[in-house]
Amino acid sequence: MNNRISRIAPSPTGALHIGNARTFLINWALARKQGWRLVMRMEDLDGPRIKKESADQAIDILTWLGIDFDGKILFQSHDFKPYRDAMRVLQQQGLIYQCRLSRKQVKDAAAAPHLGQHEIRYSPELRPNDRAAFVFDEEQTNYRFLVTEEAISISDEFAGQAIFKPFDEVGDFVIWTKSGTPAYQLAVVVDDARQGVTDVVRGDDLLSSAARQELIYKALGLKAPKWWHLPLVIGEDGRRLAKRHGDTRLVTYKKEGVSAERVIGVLAALSGICETPQEMSAAQFKDAFEIEDLNSEPVVFGEELRKWLVDSK
Ligand code: GLU
Repeated sequence: MNNRISRIAPSPTGALHIGNARTFLINWALARKQGWRLVMRMEDLDGPRIKKESADQAIDILTWLGIDFDGKILFQSHDFKPYRDAMRVLQQQGLIYQCRLSRKQVKDAAAAPHLGQHEIRYSPELRPNDRAAFVFDEEQTNYRFLVTEEAISISDEFAGQAIFKPFDEVGDFVIWTKSGTPAYQLAVVVDDARQGVTDVVRGDDLLSSAARQELIYKALGLKAPKWWHLPLVIGEDGRRLAKRHGDTRLVTYKKEGVSAERVIGVLAALSGICETPQEMSAAQFKDAFEIEDLNSEPVVFGEELRKWLVDSK
């Protein structure tokens, strides 16, 4: 045993698909192989997109696959105190401020899109002059985190070294939303810290977020975890797996009578364990899995694998 802790943190906004399942299964296998604790967190803050039954469904599906975890599940929506406390610490350092601008105003002031494209850079000219003058009482405004111009170097255990400049890429980002909830970037840091997480294993769509999270860790006087950002599963068109690729939700396969061993067989073929899919249990996946064999490029869930999966019924 050692003191390392990893976590699985689904957002119950929709059912798990082949892509999420691969990341979770690898995370579980890494943890179980190396004697890390593995905790569970429901990231259920995203108001209208959260579906009540999706949290139960996510747990059901993970259990069906053979993924287990340690201790009680942490539901982000159950208690905002830890997030409020963190906001107060950030406020004391003058690192947050109220932002009453609309998305359109922020967008209109932005130059050409940077990095993630879907993210609009918040232009520093938009910073209010009277930043310090507010009482953090969660009234209906966004709060932003004041981003310094420093470059952040992320040493990722899987993806290697990456340098980010959040100031140029996204600028001051939202840390508390006008719907009265902590934003993802804050919640994830506060929770990983209070759950004692030492190793964050997740999809590499969040690699650039790690830089923002490191800024928050530093501001809160906390130690950042080790990062393991894994490539995503994509469709044959090269785009990340989504609805446009048909229904790849595990709940649908399960309903259709596909076995968990069959699903894991496909995930094994997508994780460098075998060239072609082979039915196996989660335990067999764990024994065979080697992180060194995992492709560093996105992997394709294409027609052949899909056919193999559904032909089994
Ligand atoms: N809840 C996020 C997701 O399902 C994961 C966040 C994280 O791992 O930091 O995409």
